[in-house]
Amino acid sequence: QLDPSVQVSLKEKLKEIFGFSQFRGDQEAIIHNILAGINSFVIMPTGAGKSLCYQLPAIASEGTAIVISPLIALMKNQVDQMNAFGINAQFLNSTLSKAEMNKVKKDTLNGTLKLLYIAPESLTKEENLDFLKKANISFVAIDEAHCISEWGHDFRPEYRKIRGIIDNIGNLPVIALTATATPKVQQDIQKNLQMEDAHIYKTSFNRKNLYYEIRPKTDAKKQLIRYVKNNKGKSGIIYCLSRKTVEEISELLNVNDIKALPYHAGLDAQTRMANQDAFLNEDVDVVVATIAFGMGIDKPDVRFVIHYDAPKSLEGYYQETGRAGRDGLEGNCLMFYSYDDIVKLEKFNKDKSVTERDNAKHLLMEMVSYANLGVCRRRQLLSYFGEYQEKDCGFCDNCTKSTDKFKAQDEIVLALQA
Ligand code: ADP
Ligand code: MG
Repeated sequence: QLDPSVQVSLKEKLKEIFGFSQFRGDQEAIIHNILAGINSFVIMPTGAGKSLCYQLPAIASEGTAIVISPLIALMKNQVDQMNAFGINAQFLNSTLSKAEMNKVKKDTLNGTLKLLYIAPESLTKEENLDFLKKANISFVAIDEAHCISEWGHDFRPEYRKIRGIIDNIGNLPVIALTATATPKVQQDIQKNLQMEDAHIYKTSFNRKNLYYEIRPKTDAKKQLIRYVKNNKGKSGIIYCLSRKTVEEISELLNVNDIKALPYHAGLDAQTRMANQDAFLNEDVDVVVATIAFGMGIDKPDVRFVIHYDAPKSLEGYYQETGRAGRDGLEGNCLMFYSYDDIVKLEKFNKDKSVTERDNAKHLLMEMVSYANLGVCRRRQLLSYFGEYQEKDCGFCDNCTKSTDKFKAQDEIVLALQA
């Protein structure tokens, strides 16, 4: 229980620093919990506002909060945003020069740094551990915590060592955050972090403003061009499986007078950053990308997300489609589906260990069943995330097959405004 003056000052900081007049959902309760030194496990869909749950208490606490984050792009995004708000936040990774590295260490040790972003691979380095042991650390946030779980869609083995490292630094409160809600992943994370005692904050995964649609992958290029042209001037992301397809589709859109740029791990870091910025600044409408793009990217007005190729799990699908309509307005999620793509995805798994292959196959079959079943898409997705929805949603292709999508969309918009 925090005293009311703390409550007031948090609200003031929310307004002064972030410019928001209200906390969203459980944000305030989560912040109180972390300030009280209690472990928290936050499971909320993409766009819910999870970052604020550690950014604000980091600012309100003495010393530095460690934010463990999987991607440089994601760290950069948040560091830029925090710095623009006048908050000292920095990241520590291998791209830094010696001088930049020393600045991070100095600011951490003298306590002026509020947020230190770091990937688990850097955190495990001896020299980084050494200076963190000497610093005044307020708490540890583990963002995108599904990376811990071998059942999560982007499993990273180094993430499984975090518990030991935290214990090495000190007795610190931990807040883990993820948008992946399958009960299996959740249990795996809690067990690995030894956080069975954590306070769990879980909200519904229903994204009411997203329209889910799957089309057979026939004449997909033509369909794609028509679709993007019909959405001219709107921001969209097109996901493809391979770098080659990314380049090909991006090129195809360009010759059809659509401003698009590619994004994949085969491009050098500078090009990737430039293309991402061009999308964020709306110099281009469309980014064509592999799944390397998007985690933590905060563009509120993405109007459509297209899966040109089938994703390898429903978690991935949910995350990627979740980048549409973060502002709560229209969001269209279209997938082109063919069983050939599933066969291709299966081939990727053939060199994996038996367990990994079984996991991957299991995740893929969930995807196949989602694509093939004629029942409400939202009902299927939510049930996968352990949520029960009583009625059909009325706002996906299977629900609107016999009715008019645009009529359904109007009704949803009205319902959202009400
Ligand atoms: P998540 O990590 O859960 O996907 P983010 O932390 O990136 O979501 O936040 C999504 C968006 O919501 C951001 O644009 C953020 O500024 C905004 N947001 C967060 N909290 C609030 C709030 N209390 N009021 C209004 N907007 C908010
Ligand atoms: Mg996030």
